[in-house]
Amino acid sequence: MPVKIDSSADLYRKLPSVDELQRSSELAALAASEGQAAVTDAARAVLAPLRQEITDGRLDANAVDLALSGLENAIIRRVRQSLKYSLRPVINATGVILHTNLGRAPLPASTLEHIRETAASYSNLEFDLATRERGKRDVHVDRLFRKLLDESVGAGVTTRGAEAGISTIVVNNNAAAVLLALNTLAEGGEVIVSRGELVEIGGSFRIPDVMSKSNAILREVGTTNRTRVSDYEKAINDKTRLLLRVHRSNFQITGFTEQPQIEELVSLARKRKLPLVEDLGSGALFDLRSIGVNGEPSVLDSLRQGVDVVTYSGDKLLGGPQAGMLSGRSDLIALMRGNSLFRALRVDKLTYAALEATLLAYVKGEHDAVPALRMMRLSKEEIGRRADAVGGRIKSSRLSLEVTDGESVIGGGAAPSAVLPTRLLAIACEGLSANELSAQLRASDPPIITRVEEGRVLLDLRTVFPEQDEVIVKALKQVTGK
Ligand SMILES: *Cc1c(COP(=O)(O)O)cnc(C)c1O
Repeated sequence: MPVKIDSSADLYRKLPSVDELQRSSELAALAASEGQAAVTDAARAVLAPLRQEITDGRLDANAVDLALSGLENAIIRRVRQSLKYSLRPVINATGVILHTNLGRAPLPASTLEHIRETAASYSNLEFDLATRERGKRDVHVDRLFRKLLDESVGAGVTTRGAEAGISTIVVNNNAAAVLLALNTLAEGGEVIVSRGELVEIGGSFRIPDVMSKSNAILREVGTTNRTRVSDYEKAINDKTRLLLRVHRSNFQITGFTEQPQIEELVSLARKRKLPLVEDLGSGALFDLRSIGVNGEPSVLDSLRQGVDVVTYSGDKLLGGPQAGMLSGRSDLIALMRGNSLFRALRVDKLTYAALEATLLAYVKGEHDAVPALRMMRLSKEEIGRRADAVGGRIKSSRLSLEVTDGESVIGGGAAPSAVLPTRLLAIACEGLSANELSAQLRASDPPIITRVEEGRVLLDLRTVFPEQDEVIVKALKQVTGK
């Protein structure tokens, strides 16, 4: 019996128009609740590949009928999907505290309250309530930075001859802070940097590129592994505007190495009347030595040693919102504020609210209120107890669980050697590779992000909020069918 071959024109005729589809009672109801545009877009998006498959001759009449029977549901699913948030919370079980891909620092609870309170209504962002005059938005945080930096730097500053101590301004991120510092202090002139510090930070922040965008000329000195203060000195000429020191945030140079001490650079800068700017990257406002991490200078260390301006991020070791700070000599900071670039790089009221609340926690000495700091301060024993408890709750013959020693990573541009001893929950699952198991955990809701090493999935509860331990237990039970 000859098989009748439908022409593609016949098959096209079977497809309803977008208008026809929308007349169905279910889709009309969906349009009423979720908006006509979302339903129209979804209908078009579902029909387009069907048309294409007919054109390509890949569908016969039966296949088209089958697709048509599922059309409404496909559209409904698509509308629901398109109206879901794309940005959503995940559980960070990697043990990397400041994980750039996972949003760096989780914010203190007080910041959210302060944002809600001030941003959902009007605020005195730029309004002086005492005088009814226009105010400056940076006063809200400068007073706290003064408490944390200026009052502590104290006498060190007066020896430098700066009249008004240490001031701080805030821009969008540390990359913007470096750009603003270079453009303000060195536009058209030369900036001396060691070849060992021409870093690239993730997300394409490259010192040479920022330098050229700022219209300053990079003057490289020394070699990759060794730079002496005399190299800086020899490079100084009448076009030199500043000396720049950059923190090697994401790599180490070991072996035959030499970098000038910060004191040597400070005295050279003073002698030649040049500002010394340091891109600290992470910028801790607390002493990392208190958690056993050495060699990571804090903002205060650098300012005390006499660096004129330091730049640092808000969402790295500081543990607050994304922002870039410039702290230093008030006369230099005033120049930066006066630069029209500052207006283009400034931050919004949400950031000021979050930063003010984070800094207030520091001023009050409430370090455990800042999640990133609390996580850094957790002891290996405490993490081990939680890992044992989570492991003990899962009774599956398919799973092999072990709690072992390991290391958490501070991340976010703290020294790459800044690691903390921890206890890891190591999991292998019969019938699943480590990558498959980690993919299943990533597909759970909320997604759980893990490390995979040597054929096992590793969970470091240091970066997991204690109330999320339960969620991990549930997800592991689900993945392994109990
Ligand atoms: C992280 C980092 C930057 C970039 O800071 P963002 O806040 O991400 O813009 C610049 N310099 C150094 C040394 C860093 O560690």
